[in-house]
Amino acid sequence: MEKGTGMTTATKMVYRLDEGSAEMVALLGGKGAGVSEMARIGIPVPPGFVITTEACKEFYRLGHRFPDGLWESIVEKVKFLERETGKGFGDPRNPLVVSVRSGAPVSMPGMMDTILNMGVVDATVDGLAKLMGDERPALDAYRRLIQGFGNVVLGIEKDQFETRLDRAKKQRGLEFDYQLQPDALWDLIGQFKQVIHGATSAPMPQDPWELLRQSIEAVFTSWNNPRAITYREYQRIPHDLGTACVIMVMVFGNLGADSGTGVLFSRNPSTGERSLYGEFLANAQGEDVVAGVRTPQQLSSLSQEWPELYRQIEEKAGELERHYRDVQDVELTVERGTLYILQTRDAKRTASAAVKIAVDFVNEGVLTKEEALGRVSPDDVPQVLMPRFAPEAKQKAIEDGALLAQGLGSSPGAATGIVVMDPDRAVELASQGEKVLLVRPETSPDDVHGILRAEGVLTSRGGMTSHAAVVTRGLGKACVVGCEELEFNMAARTATARGKTIHEGDVLSVDGASGEVFMATIAVSPPAPEELSDLNTLLEWADERRTLEVWANADRPDDAQIGREYGAQGIGLCRTEHMFFDESRLPHIQKLLTVAPEASHLMREMERVRASLEEAPASERANLGRRLTEAEQGLATSTSVKEFNSSLAKLEEFQTQDFYDILKVMEGLPVVVRLLDAPLHEFLPNYADLRTEVALLLAKGDASAETREKEHTLALVESLREADPMLGHRGCRVGMTMPEVYEMQVRAIVTAACRLTKEGHTVYPEVMIPIVSHANELKWLRERLAVVAEKTRAAMGVSAEYKFGTMIEVPRAALTASEIAQEAEFFSFGTNDLTQMTFGYSRDDAEGKFLRHYVETKILPWDPFASLDTVGVGRLMRLACEEGRAAKPDLELGICGEHGGDPKSIAFCHALGLNYVSASPYRVPVARLAAAQSALGQLKSAL
Ligand code: ADP
Ligand code: MG
Ligand code: MG
Repeated sequence: MEKGTGMTTATKMVYRLDEGSAEMVALLGGKGAGVSEMARIGIPVPPGFVITTEACKEFYRLGHRFPDGLWESIVEKVKFLERETGKGFGDPRNPLVVSVRSGAPVSMPGMMDTILNMGVVDATVDGLAKLMGDERPALDAYRRLIQGFGNVVLGIEKDQFETRLDRAKKQRGLEFDYQLQPDALWDLIGQFKQVIHGATSAPMPQDPWELLRQSIEAVFTSWNNPRAITYREYQRIPHDLGTACVIMVMVFGNLGADSGTGVLFSRNPSTGERSLYGEFLANAQGEDVVAGVRTPQQLSSLSQEWPELYRQIEEKAGELERHYRDVQDVELTVERGTLYILQTRDAKRTASAAVKIAVDFVNEGVLTKEEALGRVSPDDVPQVLMPRFAPEAKQKAIEDGALLAQGLGSSPGAATGIVVMDPDRAVELASQGEKVLLVRPETSPDDVHGILRAEGVLTSRGGMTSHAAVVTRGLGKACVVGCEELEFNMAARTATARGKTIHEGDVLSVDGASGEVFMATIAVSPPAPEELSDLNTLLEWADERRTLEVWANADRPDDAQIGREYGAQGIGLCRTEHMFFDESRLPHIQKLLTVAPEASHLMREMERVRASLEEAPASERANLGRRLTEAEQGLATSTSVKEFNSSLAKLEEFQTQDFYDILKVMEGLPVVVRLLDAPLHEFLPNYADLRTEVALLLAKGDASAETREKEHTLALVESLREADPMLGHRGCRVGMTMPEVYEMQVRAIVTAACRLTKEGHTVYPEVMIPIVSHANELKWLRERLAVVAEKTRAAMGVSAEYKFGTMIEVPRAALTASEIAQEAEFFSFGTNDLTQMTFGYSRDDAEGKFLRHYVETKILPWDPFASLDTVGVGRLMRLACEEGRAAKPDLELGICGEHGGDPKSIAFCHALGLNYVSASPYRVPVARLAAAQSALGQLKSAL
């Protein structure tokens, strides 16, 4: 009863290699499954067996004890190895020697332990020497065993052994381990035994079975060494998988010049190029390659020195690659000219290598196009598109000690420039032709002008979704955030890391992929055109399979052009605010806002009178008619109205040109233009600054006209101030209270469209109303704007059409989608605002103050601004889609929030059945691939 092992004696805890296979990764670990599979398909692997991860888990459950029957099974399998090799474990004349290797179901390179040369003890070392025909390698194996056992099993510092080894070499004037001769090795073995004795107050155990048992226990235990735990936490690998233990007959790479050990990639993991890439160390054991005692030679050099071996290696690498249908990372050892493969696994690779390999595999007939599409992560795509630091140049900078700090690579790309800590200064220097890097503790929307002109951005705070990260990714600029070791002294305009201080004006290079920051200029190289051609090929395959369209968010013709080049099938969001910020335009909108209160009042008054006149009984007509005449006169003579109209006319000129340009670039494709959305105060001077300025002027007794003017503006800014601008008078709410602005924009859109139509172009403008929460807003605006459009068309003598629709970004709009759909031909989910309003977060505050904490403590499973909250926000979207389509079956559905470029969110949009996702131009390729993967079921999202 008390046993509670959960394992019956029948549970098989030990597998011979021929009993295992590639599918058994969970049970045999990656290494165990790999060697089993290789043995099965005839790759030369030394004989061995695997102790399962289940046995390891059981070992833990029993408080570090072997489960019943495990040891007996192990002994039985060692006997089997003895029969296979004709040797005996512990046999003094003919000793069997094995390795005891850890290997988890998920690759955790170097995190756990392995002990080589198990079975070499005092009693067997001579016998081994005879078998090898050489005493030196046998003694070398023995000293390695003591070292490995001492370190892994007994927990003695590696240094204890390494320093003695180094001293032994130095005393004899030797450079390499393999140069140590038997007498020196005997001496070293004696010293190593003393180290063991000193640490454990007992001699080095001499019973090979006891050593084996303790080593297996140590391998199991190494699953929970601090290194492994930290790694699992970082990689989000579950802690309960356990490690398998592979026992494998040793092959010796240290037998002389005709032996050696190496690692290889079946293709170049950095470029994807189809050629073996690897390193080889003659006369060495596997661990030496990693230890870096000797610099290994390029594997390719063997093709000259040892062509027959090289041919075999190539052949086996090719076989493995074809068998696994993926690039392999392989460990090999050569014993007296005979090749053994000791490990194989799918190789880690760069983004551009992943793309090239996927495309090549299709051309070679290894993969189908669908499978190839699943081999590249959409998140890797941006990395392929960016210029990057030339790998050699970066390596040299590291060797020169130019690495200043390490942050979080949040927007891939390579940027070099002079450090500037102030956005205004960044603009100023950039205008003088300098390349600048904006380096700040963090960035905010106030810094965008600086970011726009900078080569890249570096911040000490923030994560992958911080302002700097999001903005730069949208812009395709390099960015490193969360570089916490960088300490700012903003007063002195300096920052310090690793004892080095940088000043404004110093040159830095930031690698937005790796997060590295260098105090140096590093040469960049653009991606090779052929790499891009592979990406284009892959994306064409993606286009054939996806059902979601991919559009781009672009405010300017040049951005639209980039989006189009990357394959955008429309513009999902063309924001019009930016168009007003230009120096030539700002004065006009400011003028407009200054006179708007009075002008608006007069215009609304006239509308009211006119409306009552229409409905008035005959008796009141005369009276109302007089009032109308008065109102009309008031309007005609008011300077405010005059100025209002002339500012509006000026803005209309600009806007018509803006829309003309962007529609022309996107000829033949839809362009969704969002009417003015920003709170109005954004177009006016900063309140606090202006107030101080006016106060100072008045205190000085300045009563000039200019001061009066400023006072007037101050009053205006004051009147436009809001408690919460994001939830205030913005979007369609301005459109309702001051319809002239939206009318002007629609006139500009229709005029541009008509003009282009006349010129023979086909254009598809769509007018989008922001911040709608009630169908009545939309209805009112639609009717009013339709009149304007009709008049414009009549005046132009062309009938360019436009679609009319709305953003769904206020929860109430989603909840009342069936009513809203009556007034709209399309919905576009503005998921940035929808997320803010659904959670009740203000994004800037959330990101600055608590969101990271929420994600770290798993209160939120992920950052909902980076990837759609499918459960909450997604539910609103689903409701809006279903009800919207029920009310209007041909309703066009899209998403224009930043989530439109996020693969996980795209999978959700696919599941919802949206028509398109719209992403920033640089993320269009990402979205194309993600949409294809969604259609193929490779990227999944639950509705
Ligand atoms: P890791 O997971 O750290 O790579 P391994 O178990 O793969 O650990 O072993 C470490 C090194 O020892 C590797 O280079 C491997 O090829 C080598 N090695 C392991 N088992 C044997 C063996 N039976 N014969 C020769 N070399 C071996
Ligand atoms: Mg290995
Ligand atoms: Mg919005």
